[in-house]
Amino acid sequence: MGSEFELIDQAFRAGTTFRWPGTEVPNGDDASVHACEPGMAWAVSTDTAVCGVHWPGDFPLDQAADRAVCAALSDLAAMGAAARQVWVAATAPDAASMRRLGRGLCQAVQRFDLELAGGDTVRAAQTALTVTVAGVLPQACAMRRDAAKPGDDVWLAGRVGFSALGLERWLAGDRDPDMITAFARVEPLLATGIAIRELGVCCCIDISDGLAQDAGHVARATGVAMHLDLGACEGWPDLVAMSGESRATALALAGGDDYALLFTAPRRLRESLAGLAQRIGDCRPGAGVIVNLAGAPVDLPAHGFDHFVSETDA
Ligand code: ADP
Ligand code: MG
Repeated sequence: MGSEFELIDQAFRAGTTFRWPGTEVPNGDDASVHACEPGMAWAVSTDTAVCGVHWPGDFPLDQAADRAVCAALSDLAAMGAAARQVWVAATAPDAASMRRLGRGLCQAVQRFDLELAGGDTVRAAQTALTVTVAGVLPQACAMRRDAAKPGDDVWLAGRVGFSALGLERWLAGDRDPDMITAFARVEPLLATGIAIRELGVCCCIDISDGLAQDAGHVARATGVAMHLDLGACEGWPDLVAMSGESRATALALAGGDDYALLFTAPRRLRESLAGLAQRIGDCRPGAGVIVNLAGAPVDLPAHGFDHFVSETDA
C-alpha cells in the first residue's frame, strides 16, 4: 500500500508532464504560477461532477473523469478561449477508484494538450471530481451571454437531446456504443468556439442544462426574445426517429449534457457561419424563449436540469 503522494504521482502526475510556456511554477508546489501573454486574458471555469448525480454508479470511472474534463472545457469553448491548464480535486473511497479517475483524467489532459497544474486528492465515501480549467483569449473579446441584439440570427453548433437519450439507454441497461456514445463521450467544441469568436461572434453559451433553459439565460441576460425552430437543429430527424416526436422535444429542450454551443450573430455573418453551425432562429425585441416545430408553438418544459428545483418546487 503506497502513500497519498505516491498515489498522486502515479495516478495523476506521471502521464501529465506537459507545461505551457508562461508557467513560472508548475504543479508540485503550494500553487502554480502562470503569466499571460501580452494582450491576452484568462478565462477560468470550474465544475463539479459527482458519482450518482452526474454519472450513473455503474459507469466506468475513467470515462466519468474524461467527461468531467470535457464538460469543463465546454465552458471555455463558449467563451471562445483556447484551453491551457486544468486543476482537479478528486475524492474517492479507495486507491483503485482514484487510479481509474486518474486514468481518464490523464487521457483527456493529453488529448487536449492541457497542463495539469495542480489538484487535491482526498479519500472519502463519495466519488467526485471538481475540475477547474483555464484558457486564454485576446483581451475584451470573450463571447458573453449578455451580448445578443434584436435582429441577430440564432445558431446552434452540435446536437441537442442525444446525450440525455444515451443516458436513458444506459440506465435501461443498453450498452450498444451507438446508443450511448453521446452521453459517454463529451466533445467540447473548442475549435468552433475560437472560430466563431474570430469571425466576430460576441454572444455564446454552451448548452449543458437543456436548450430551453440555456437559451433563456441568454434571453434574460441580454433582454431579447429568442425565437427557435426545433426542426432546424442538427440531427432532429434522427432524434425523432429514435425516440418519437414528443420525447425528442423533451430531450432536446430539457435533457441536458449536450455541450453544444448556442450563439447569436448579425445577418452579415450568415455565409461565414454556414459551415460551422445550424441557423435555428432569431432574436427579436421582447423577452423569453419561443420554440416552434413545423410552424406550431411548442409548450416549453417547466425547467431544464436544476439540482434544487425538485426540493423547492415539487
Ligand atoms: P497542499 O497540502 O499544499 O494543498 P497537497 O499535499 O494537497 O498540497 O498536494 C501536493 C501536490 O500535489 C500539490 O502541488 C498538488 O497540486 C498536487 N496534487 C495533489 N493532488 C493532485 C491531483 N489529483 N492531480 C494533480 N496534482 C495533484
Ligand atoms: Mg491539499
